[in-house]
Amino acid sequence: MPVSVGSLGFPRIGAKRELKFALEDFWSGKASAATLLEVARGLRRANWAKQHALGITHIPSNDFSLYDHVLDTSVMVGAIPAVYGWKGAEVSLELYFAMARGSGSMGLPALEMTKWFDTNYHYMVPELEPDQVFQLASTKPIDEYLEAKALGYETRPVLLGPVTYLKLAKSKDKALNPLDWLERLLPVYAEVLRRLHSHGAKWVQMDEPVLSLDLDEASQGAFRKAYTALAEAVPGLNLLLTNYFGGYGDNLELALSLPVAGMHLDLVRAPGELDLVTQKAPAELTLSLGVIDGRNVWRADLPAILDWIEPVVEARGEDKVILAPSCSLLHVPIDLSLETALDPELKGWLAFAVQKLEELSVLGRALNQGRGAAKDELAASAAAVAARRSSPKIHDPRVQERLARITPEMTRRKSPFPVRREAQQTHLGLPLFPTTTIGSFPQTGEVRKARAAFSKGELSAADYTDFLKSKVEEAVRWQEEIGLDVLVHGEFERNDMVQYFAEQLCGYAFTQHGWVQSYGSRCVRPPILFGDVSRPRPMTLEWATYAQSLTSKPVKGMLTGPVTMLQWSFVRDDLPREQVCRQIALALRDEVADLERAGIRIIQIDEPALREGLPLRRAEWDGYLAWAVECFRLCASGVADETQVHTHMCYSEFNDIIQFIGDMDADVISIEASRSKMELLEAFISYRYPNQIGPGIYDIHSPRVPSVAELVELLEKAQKHLAPDQIWVNPDCGLKTRKWEEVKPALANLVEAAQHLRKQS
Ligand code: GLN
Ligand code: ZN
Repeated sequence: MPVSVGSLGFPRIGAKRELKFALEDFWSGKASAATLLEVARGLRRANWAKQHALGITHIPSNDFSLYDHVLDTSVMVGAIPAVYGWKGAEVSLELYFAMARGSGSMGLPALEMTKWFDTNYHYMVPELEPDQVFQLASTKPIDEYLEAKALGYETRPVLLGPVTYLKLAKSKDKALNPLDWLERLLPVYAEVLRRLHSHGAKWVQMDEPVLSLDLDEASQGAFRKAYTALAEAVPGLNLLLTNYFGGYGDNLELALSLPVAGMHLDLVRAPGELDLVTQKAPAELTLSLGVIDGRNVWRADLPAILDWIEPVVEARGEDKVILAPSCSLLHVPIDLSLETALDPELKGWLAFAVQKLEELSVLGRALNQGRGAAKDELAASAAAVAARRSSPKIHDPRVQERLARITPEMTRRKSPFPVRREAQQTHLGLPLFPTTTIGSFPQTGEVRKARAAFSKGELSAADYTDFLKSKVEEAVRWQEEIGLDVLVHGEFERNDMVQYFAEQLCGYAFTQHGWVQSYGSRCVRPPILFGDVSRPRPMTLEWATYAQSLTSKPVKGMLTGPVTMLQWSFVRDDLPREQVCRQIALALRDEVADLERAGIRIIQIDEPALREGLPLRRAEWDGYLAWAVECFRLCASGVADETQVHTHMCYSEFNDIIQFIGDMDADVISIEASRSKMELLEAFISYRYPNQIGPGIYDIHSPRVPSVAELVELLEKAQKHLAPDQIWVNPDCGLKTRKWEEVKPALANLVEAAQHLRKQS
C-alpha cells in the first residue's frame, strides 16, 4: 500500500463565500431552509470533488458546519441548555441558530462564543446542565458520511473528540467539572462510531487539540478512560488521534499509550516531535505527518520536506504513513488562483487551501513513485522558495539596520510615571475623572457608502477627503458640545483598524478573496505581511491635526499597536515573529513622533490582540509577553514626559498577565469592564497598578443606553479601590458598530456621571 495523503478539514464557507450569503438570506427571511440546505449540500459536494481530484485519499467528512463544529457536537450529543426548551426530538434549524445567535422573537440568548485555541476562529461554548444527560440527538456525522458515499467518495469522518469537547465546555454549576460527565458522554460517541463503522467507515479522525495544552492528571486520566472505552466499544474501527496547533509535549507518553490506530502530528508547530515519536511509537501505529502549514499562507519547501520524511517512510513502511496539513485548512483562504490583482512575484510564494492540498499530493507522488515522477513540481517549489529568500521585495537593508540599532533606552520613557504624570497634568490641565472615548464613532451607511464609492473610483480623492473632514468636524463639534474632555477624530477614514495601517506600510499585501471564517457567517480577510516593514509617509497625521485644528481641547491620536498589527495578519515565516513585531513597532514609533511634533499631546496605541497572542503552553508565556511588551514600549517611548500615552485592550482577563500590563507603562490604559461590573479591575487593584486606568462603563456591545445612575454606580465601584486621580471615564471600546442615536445619549450620560463624581470629591 502506498503512502496516503490526508486532509484534516476543508474550509466550509465556499470560495465565493456562498455559505455566508446563503445563511444571511435565510436569517433575513429572503431564502427558505431548503435553499440554505441545498447550498450547503453543494458546498460539501464541491469540496469532496475538489479534494478527490487533487489526489487526497483520506478525504474528511463532517468537517462541514452550518455555523460551528463545536455547536454541531453539542447538538450531536444533545447538550442543549434548558432555556431553549428542547423536547428531545430532532433539533430544528430554528433551535440550532437560536443557540448560535440568540433569537429576538423567542427572547433567547445565544451561547457564549470564544476563540478556538490560538486562532481567530470562534466556537460556541458548550454549556452543561448540572443534571446533563446525553443522547444521540443528531446523526450529522453519519448522514454526511453516507452523503459522500452516495456520491462515490469514501471519507474519513471527523469528530471533535470527547475530552476536548468537555474541556471546552462550561458547567452551569461552577462547582462541577465538565470532565466529570465523561462517563455519561462516552456511550453517545460509541454509538456514533458504531454506526459509522457499520456503514463502512474505516478511519475516524478524533480531533483532540487539547493535547497541545498543559493537561492535569484528571484530563490525562480522561483520555485513558475515553479511548479505552471507545476502542472496546468499536473494535476494528481505526481511530486517528488528532492533535494540532502544537506538539504533544508532556502528553506524548499519554498519547502513545492510547489504544488508537493512528496519531497525527503537527510537524509545523512541533517539528522536533517527529524523531521522538518514530523512536517510541509501536510499529503498527499509523502516523499522520502534518508537514504542510495549515495556519499560514506560504508555499512549502517540498524537496526539504521529502529529505526529512523519506527516512521515516522507509523505516515505518509506506502503509503506516499519511501525509497531511498540520491542522484543518479552515484557517487559511481557499484558492489562490482567484487572486488576479496580487503582485505575481508574491503570488508565486503563496499557497492557500487548494494549493496546500496540491503540495501534499505532489509529496505523495514523490514518495510513492520516486522524485522523478514529480520532478517539475519539486523544482518549481524549490525555485519559489529560493526566489522568496533572496527577493529584494522582502529585504530592506534600511529596516534591518534600524533594527540592529535598537537600544534599551529606546524602550524606556525618559522619566518614571509619577514625574510624567505631573508634567502631563501641568501641560494638559484635565479635570478629575477625565472623560474620553476609545476612538471610533459610528460607521454609518453614509460613511461606508462614501468609502465604497471612493474605492470604485466614483468619488474623487478630494471629494472623499472633504466628506471625511466634514464628518470629523461634526464629531469634534458634538464632542465639545456634550463636554468630553479628550476628543477623538472618529476614525471615519478606517475600513478596519489593522488593514488601514497595513495598507499604508511597506511589507504588507492584500487579497481580493482571501476570506477566512471567523465565526458563523463572519469572515475576515487578514493582510499578508510578507516583507520588511517600513512607513513611507505619515499615516494618521492629517486626520489628527485636522481634528486638533478645530478645537482647543486635546485630541487623542489613534494608532493600532505592533502586536495587534502582527496578530491579525498572516505573517512571514522566514523571521521570528518578535523580529517582525519590532519592525512594525519602529514604523509606528515614527508615527508617534510625527504626531507629537505636530502638537498632538495624547496618543493612544491600541493593543486588543495582545492577550490572544499568548502561546498555548504556559511555559512559553513569559517569553512571548517579554517581547510583546518590549515592542509596545519601543513604539511608545520616543516621546517627551508631557506627552500622554494611552493604550486600550478589550478583553476580560488580566489576572494572569497583569504584571506585563504594568510593564507596558502606558500612562493610561482603558479596558472593557462594564459587563463584568468592574470585576475586571480586581487584577489591577491587587497588583496596585500605579498608572491611570479607564475601566469601561458603557457596554458598547449592546444598543441599550445606560442611565446616569448606572454609570455613577460603576464609577463609584471603581473609586472604592482606585485613587480618584487615577480614574478615567470612558466606554468599553470603540463605537463604530453603534448608531448615533444610541451613542449620543449614552456619552452625554457618561459625561454627566463624571461631573457627578467630581462634585462629590
Ligand atoms: N480605536 C479602536 C476603535 O475605537 C479600538 C478598537 C478595538 O479595541 N478593537 O475602534
Ligand atoms: Zn476595544
